[in-house]
Amino acid sequence: MFKVAIVGAGSAVFSLRIISDFTKILEFKDVEICLMDIDESRLNSTYILANKLNEEMGAKLKFKTTTNLEEAIDGARFVINTAMAGGHDYLEKVRKIGEKWGYYRGIDSQEFNMVSDYYTISNFNQLDLFLKVARLVEEKGEKDAWLLQAANPVFEGTTLILRNVPINMVGFCHGHYGVHRLAEVIGLDISKLDWQVAGVNHGIWLNRFLYDGKDGYKVIDEWIGNNVYEPKHPFDDQLSLAAIDMYKFYGQMPIGDTVRNSSWKYNYDLETKKKWYGKFGGADSQIGWKWYQNNIKEITETINKLANFVSMNPNIKLLDYNTYKDYMNNEIFKEEIESIINPKKFSGEQHVPFIDSIVNNKKQRFVVNILNNGAIEGIDNDVAVEIPAWVDSSGIHPEQIMPKLSERVIKYYLKPRIMRMEMALEAFTKGDINVLKELLFRDPRTRSEEQVEGVLNEIMNLPENAKMREYYKR
Ligand code: NAD
Repeated sequence: MFKVAIVGAGSAVFSLRIISDFTKILEFKDVEICLMDIDESRLNSTYILANKLNEEMGAKLKFKTTTNLEEAIDGARFVINTAMAGGHDYLEKVRKIGEKWGYYRGIDSQEFNMVSDYYTISNFNQLDLFLKVARLVEEKGEKDAWLLQAANPVFEGTTLILRNVPINMVGFCHGHYGVHRLAEVIGLDISKLDWQVAGVNHGIWLNRFLYDGKDGYKVIDEWIGNNVYEPKHPFDDQLSLAAIDMYKFYGQMPIGDTVRNSSWKYNYDLETKKKWYGKFGGADSQIGWKWYQNNIKEITETINKLANFVSMNPNIKLLDYNTYKDYMNNEIFKEEIESIINPKKFSGEQHVPFIDSIVNNKKQRFVVNILNNGAIEGIDNDVAVEIPAWVDSSGIHPEQIMPKLSERVIKYYLKPRIMRMEMALEAFTKGDINVLKELLFRDPRTRSEEQVEGVLNEIMNLPENAKMREYYKR
């Protein structure tokens, strides 16, 4: 019927979510899914579990694997990019160098850019890979092929690609589910909500919040007046004191990762982070991020273990968790696999429902990253914004953003954040290291020129950054 390529398919949890979503849409019977990754062992685990899931769900998807990017994208109608050049180990290495030079949580953790795997200064290879994938979609993909961007940085990546490569492209994030989390914590029925969010990726704000037709912000205010929220885990920050303080200053509620992407006020050090984000210091503190890294490491190991188990015991039923639960013994994975094997439950990732809307003309609502083109007043047209839109086979139709974002959100949050993105992209596209340096000179943690030169040199001298080094030397 058509071909889908998943780049970075060894990101096993993500791939299994996507693949399981495909198995649950009846119309997708003969879709060919090409799994591509540079890590053969992770790729193989995804392949084994994908085939097993396919068989047990009664779907008729056809899987292939490759370590060759061109081969994966050749003839594809949809390409999903979830690859992370260098992986978490590289980011950790760079973060350590940053800390050594006096940049707590790394040089990329800056005002409105605190999300720990959202590198923009030191992620040359990731931006380079984004462009490579996009150009291959243009050259080798089916006519009018789509690129669905999942890997971070979604904001920089979507803007970079849509400004430079003439393809159909959309960036996705699950940050807007923060609206559901907000409703859940304050005890609201999600089906009675009428909401909108708008902004840029990891910088979205609740511009509309009606509950049962009435002003839902009144309910939020009442909850805030009577409650203090204790986070259950480091990412549980939607009603943290930081979120509430941002709401009071900006006049609208920050949603999802926007709460992490905050100003220095909440992020000077661990003690400050704990004061505003609760006992873990939020997702991006040394405690929170360690927790996250351990979780993904454990899940990746569990998936490899499960793939091994399935290949040695081909008769086990993936859909019957009880048959292998003792072998797995992993609570986080249990939740994940229960959702994956439930034929009626979708993962919540937007990629496959989006493809369903485009291919099968099913009109559905999404929160997408696309060029602004007038959607948010006061923001340039060629900046990627994150907004709600309706999608069908004729494409993406943005909703009118109503009511507008507050003046403070536009002027004091989005514009400075967009300026950072512009500087990161100018440095990358022109190869001008001075723009990266200027970003660091504006950082309150910088005390001297030597510090800026030192940290950048050390990062550029990493073996992984040979291409970056040559590029900026030209
Ligand atoms: P991961 O390291 O576990 O997986 C990434 C995969 O990419 C690995 O299997 C790796 O081998 C592969 N890879 C690396 N370089 C490659 C290349 N050149 N070609 C093909 N494959 C390559 O990382 P993860 O935790 O799954 O995160 C992946 C990305 O998704 C990150 O950028 C992360 O920030 C992003 N992410 C996005 C969202 C969202 O909602 N948009 C949510 C979570 C994570």
